[in-house]
Amino acid sequence: EPSAFDLIIVGAGFYGATIAERAAELGKRVLVLDRRPHIGGNAYSENESETGIEVHKYGAHLFHTPNEAVWNYLNRFTSFTDYKHRVYTSLRGQVYSMPINLGTICQFFGRQMSPDDARRLVAEQAAEMADRIPSNLEEKAISLIGRPLYEAFIRGYTAKQWQTDPRDLPEYIITRLPVRYNFDNRYFNDRFEGLPVDGYTAIFEKMLSSPNISVALKTDYFALRDTIPKTIPVVYTGAIDRFFDFSHGELGWRTIDFETEVLHTGDFQGTAVMNYADESIPFTRILEFRHFNPERDYQTDKTVVVKEYSRSASKLDEPYYPINTPSDKEKYLKYKQMSENEGNVFFGGRLGTYRYLDMHQAIGAALKSFESEIAPRLKAQQE
Ligand code: FAD
Ligand code: UDP
Repeated sequence: EPSAFDLIIVGAGFYGATIAERAAELGKRVLVLDRRPHIGGNAYSENESETGIEVHKYGAHLFHTPNEAVWNYLNRFTSFTDYKHRVYTSLRGQVYSMPINLGTICQFFGRQMSPDDARRLVAEQAAEMADRIPSNLEEKAISLIGRPLYEAFIRGYTAKQWQTDPRDLPEYIITRLPVRYNFDNRYFNDRFEGLPVDGYTAIFEKMLSSPNISVALKTDYFALRDTIPKTIPVVYTGAIDRFFDFSHGELGWRTIDFETEVLHTGDFQGTAVMNYADESIPFTRILEFRHFNPERDYQTDKTVVVKEYSRSASKLDEPYYPINTPSDKEKYLKYKQMSENEGNVFFGGRLGTYRYLDMHQAIGAALKSFESEIAPRLKAQQE
């Protein structure tokens, strides 16, 4: 019965679970809805049945953050392993390390270089962008690494991953990847990094464990919307265009098809993530999940691998990544304006704000919005 609650949250991912946990802490009765059959949103994981290996069901999830407050908050619900992410990429039958670092550059150009040699070479190769301001992903990438490295490691992979001309993609996508003129091949720069010792789903079980929180799975908000009294605040982390019945058109999303296999070998590729830069190979990367948890006692005769195929999403697919072309941006602004007139609905999370958010950013945004908007609203309710 929705009217028995002080707050309704649509979506049991990191954004929704953080708000739920905070509100329950204030003594509020919270109802969390998710249309999926499980909690955790896209961070959900489960143990593959044949091997017991933890598999992140919606693609590899690596926790990392520069934000100490978020790190401390999450450490209330889990401890973390000391896993540090590293990625390799396959190009024309060779393997290089990603993100692009001095090792990648020396190997690609076939000779030893000092950091200054490599900087000079890349600057020459980026000369076409020397006095221009990059305005899209391709220009930004060329300005950072020059055209030959861009064409080898970025262009094909990005085309496969986004199915969109790199000249129509926003530059921030590529600035997620560092470029390093030393041999540091860690994927992330952040101070805090690791994987949850007991897996991702256990975090959500703990966050949602308060007796003040009720969770309704396989429950679509839109099937219930009319039964919710207008006085109860709603935190909505579903897709913003769907909330407004797509009245300004659909926002562009990319989805991923995952092809999971159990192989009869103890080690298929020797590392957790192998990217495939060649455009002729249809998948973008292969994940081998056992390597995320080398501390666990997994069996050594079988392994679980997942190939990722990216394509643009239709309404029926899981939306994973906002594409954010200029036309998407225009539509989003219209939806955002409409959302500002929904006095009692707070839009948040990856889908609700049409933004590329890492887990720590979703949690950070939820903590902030709770402090500044939601807690004051809940307190006002009392009076
Ligand atoms: P979500 O986790 O998407 O949760 C939203 C929930 O709302 C979903 O469970 C959905 O079912 C539910 N919902 C939607 N509409 C309705 C409705 N109408 N009714 C009821 N429920 C509804 N982040 C990292 O930090 N590191 C990574 O390595 C990383 N890798 C990623 C890889 C992939 C392939 C993807 C897709 C994401 C990755 N992320 C990663 C990002 C991470 O998944 C997000 O930051 C996180 O999921 C955001 O949480 P959220 O609560 O905003 O959204
Ligand atoms: N990218 C690339 N080649 C790679 C890895 C990444 O071109 O080997 C580009 C691609 O456009 C990708 C972006 O860099 O979308 C950001 O990489 P990240 O690993 O953060 O992307 P995600 O896995 O989250 O899609």
